[in-house]
Amino acid sequence: MTQPFRIGFGIDFHQLAEGRALWIGGIKLEHTKGALGHSDADVLLHAICDAMLGAVNLGDIGFHFPDTDDAFKNIDSKILLKRTNEFVTKAGYQIGNIDSTICLEFPKIKPYAPQMKKVISEILSVDENQVSIKATTSEKMGFVGREEGIAAYATVLLMQNNDSL
Ligand SMILES: [Zn+2]
Repeated sequence: MTQPFRIGFGIDFHQLAEGRALWIGGIKLEHTKGALGHSDADVLLHAICDAMLGAVNLGDIGFHFPDTDDAFKNIDSKILLKRTNEFVTKAGYQIGNIDSTICLEFPKIKPYAPQMKKVISEILSVDENQVSIKATTSEKMGFVGREEGIAAYATVLLMQNNDSL
């Protein structure tokens, strides 16, 4: 790959269920429900991983970390993000910036966003101001509005590493 910049987009969904922990953005949120999934079901980290993989045209998270593989059962998605960043580095790129939006009714994300940015930026070795985390409800409509599930979207801009030029 020789482009100075590459862009990637990622999207992820998880069902919400009683008796599960709610991990979003690498941290555990206080809530009565949690996300269902093979891993810790961190919807935001999965969307970011998919955006990063897309930017270097390396498929998606399901291809690299299949939910049929017991090695990834209940795995901390921060490990998946770290591994994904290794793919990006190997391809000769580094994170320019990440923009993301989490879609859920409850809990409010705003108080948690600074901690999420800190966790994500540390894993990716970038400044916190390179990681944007936004949130929206779906105004009570659809599966998000009924609190049956959550979604996250992420866009990532990668910059070619100078030492790989
Ligand atoms: Zn996921």
